[in-house]
Amino acid sequence: MSSVFTVERWRFSFFGTVQGVGFRPFAFRLATELELAGWVRNSAQGAVVEVEGEAAVLAEFVRRLHAEKPRACWIAGQERSVLQPRGWTGFHIEESEAAAGKSAFLLPDLATCPECLAEIQRPGERRYGYAFTNCTNCGPRYTILTGIPYDRPQTTMAGFPLCSACEAEYRDPRDRRFHAQPVACPICGPRLDVPVADAAAALREGRIVALKGVGGFQLLCDARSAEAVARLRERKHREQKPLAVMFPSIGAVRAGAEVSAAEEVLLRGPAAPIVLLRTTAHGLLAPNVCGASPYIGAMLPYSPLHHLLLEACGFPLVATSGNRSDEPIAIDNDEAHERLAGIADVFVTHNRPIARPCDDSVVRVSDRGEIVIRRARGYAPLPVLVRDPLPRVLALGAHLKSTVAIALGRQVHLSQHIGDLETAEAFHHFQRTIADLCRLYEFEPELVACDMHPGYLSTQHAPTLGLPVVRLQHHMAHVAACAAENDVDEPYLGVAWDGTGYGTDGTIWGSEFFLVDDGDYRRVAHLRPFRLPGGESAIRDCRRTALSLLHEAGLPVEAAGLEPAQVRLLRQMLQQGVNSPITTSAGRLFDAVAALSGAATTNAFEGQAPMHLEAAILGSETADAYPHPLRNTGGTLVLDWAPMLEELLASREDAPRRFHLTLAAWITAVARELAVPRVVLSGGCFQNAWLTNAAIARLESAGHRVFTHQRVPPNDGGIALGQAVLAGAHAYL
Ligand code: ZN
Ligand code: ZN
Ligand code: FE
Repeated sequence: MSSVFTVERWRFSFFGTVQGVGFRPFAFRLATELELAGWVRNSAQGAVVEVEGEAAVLAEFVRRLHAEKPRACWIAGQERSVLQPRGWTGFHIEESEAAAGKSAFLLPDLATCPECLAEIQRPGERRYGYAFTNCTNCGPRYTILTGIPYDRPQTTMAGFPLCSACEAEYRDPRDRRFHAQPVACPICGPRLDVPVADAAAALREGRIVALKGVGGFQLLCDARSAEAVARLRERKHREQKPLAVMFPSIGAVRAGAEVSAAEEVLLRGPAAPIVLLRTTAHGLLAPNVCGASPYIGAMLPYSPLHHLLLEACGFPLVATSGNRSDEPIAIDNDEAHERLAGIADVFVTHNRPIARPCDDSVVRVSDRGEIVIRRARGYAPLPVLVRDPLPRVLALGAHLKSTVAIALGRQVHLSQHIGDLETAEAFHHFQRTIADLCRLYEFEPELVACDMHPGYLSTQHAPTLGLPVVRLQHHMAHVAACAAENDVDEPYLGVAWDGTGYGTDGTIWGSEFFLVDDGDYRRVAHLRPFRLPGGESAIRDCRRTALSLLHEAGLPVEAAGLEPAQVRLLRQMLQQGVNSPITTSAGRLFDAVAALSGAATTNAFEGQAPMHLEAAILGSETADAYPHPLRNTGGTLVLDWAPMLEELLASREDAPRRFHLTLAAWITAVARELAVPRVVLSGGCFQNAWLTNAAIARLESAGHRVFTHQRVPPNDGGIALGQAVLAGAHAYL
């Protein structure tokens, strides 16, 4: 990607075996040789390096860092953030961070490393075919942790005393298993209660298997069998939403989806998330795995148990969370037998307890890199480093895709994905996650941050904690999260586009532009407001929103494609303002355009129609943006969508692309109008890779520097980070 800004600052958090192996002097020598500025220091998780210089030289630094690093140094994983440059000179080794609370050495779960995989596949090895093989470089971490510091007695491996052979490996500094806390073998370690071959046979027969995985139970079935998939959908009450698939190999993934180099790196990386890929053909998969979705959630085996099972099967498996829809994932054997009784035909469990639930993470890739959609296994609990120390804030997040966060000094620990707080089960899970974080880090909050939405269970929970409460506007929290993650200097333009958020005026916001300066958030622009006839039912049926927009713009409402009787009823509702809340939601504008362009008419699950609209952008690039006027209304810029709709009705040709380009052009026009150099993009709409790419390209060519989420979800899963930072700033006022 080209950029007018060639000087960048890159922050790397390395975890693995990076301390006591000469890593810091090595990084110092390399950076100095390449004349890069910055620093390196040890951290609680490994080491952090920040380097500033020409982007091409930074890339060279990273390449050589991996190629030439000291022999004993093993980098199990790394997180990169591209930050605003600071104009540094010189490179130095810094003292280690003062340990902020008990955060030391908390690592995410790591996918099986190549050495361990080779061992379980090689007949004659003592761990041949052993489902719980791991070493210092791989294996479970966060999901087996019961206390800090991370030591075998403080893991769920405490009940498995080491045999002499494992003990010898554990004590030998030259061994790959030196101080590997979960080390185990068939003699001394956990055992499966059903042989892998039997599980594979059941799957081949079309049965549904509940498998105890790394962060909880998964429900598996043969992804080639439409009957098995239909049964799973029916029993799980999941009618439409696409199901994730675990493939036996990267080659098998390629048979049905486009896989770029960046996507392959993620699939095979230590976090091994579900990666959303563009489907090319259904290939081997039954058509009801993804339904009409243009994307497939693909993953590769990430534990020895998964490797053995997929090898025994030789075909792809649907692998979805072990729960009923809208409930948390089951982790305990008895609990799974009880809750999944009506769903699974066969249970494959073992006796290694899971300390806390961690779903499979979900990511997709934009031109800039990873967009994290669900942050859980493989990502949690790595903290986000923020610029200024924060008071002890507990942030409760939002409602959908809930996560919570605690602030410990400059570190914000964001919980793993909890889920939508729609059921009593999910709400209990939310409370347990708070208790777990506080216990693990011995954290006593002094301040609670929550959303302003009075209907959110998280908001209602805040005052019950007996602490001062700070209520924060949803979209400000989105913007603050992205700015914090990118360490952005004020002033900047913060853009928060999503489906729903409670505005300070009591209406539903969702296309907010804030000029952020000196800690102050001024709402400077938003979409022209419109009504949602029938509220929630307009979110499900996009044609209702389309009709409302046409009505508001004075355009022919028949174009929305609804029955005449319904049109009459909805017009009446709109004219009288009955059950038709006012909104500025960008997500709903996506819905309306999806309906008008013919890309989709319904949201059976959150974001379905916008996803189809994005996927409907095809090949050749000919068209440009629709008209995108900004009207100054009492000092606020209003993005008027009426001229766009008028032109769309006149010709639907290339409408999905033209709509996305229009949004990018609008953001750029607002940034130009306000003459701010830095732009921060957040909110669920920026899970849309096409929109993100287009907005970055337009803004950069107009001379702006653009910041997007890198490690934290742009959706409501990132809200708790923004709340923690905003509440922290608030506390010092
Ligand atoms: Zn290993
Ligand atoms: Zn052993
Ligand atoms: Fe949101």
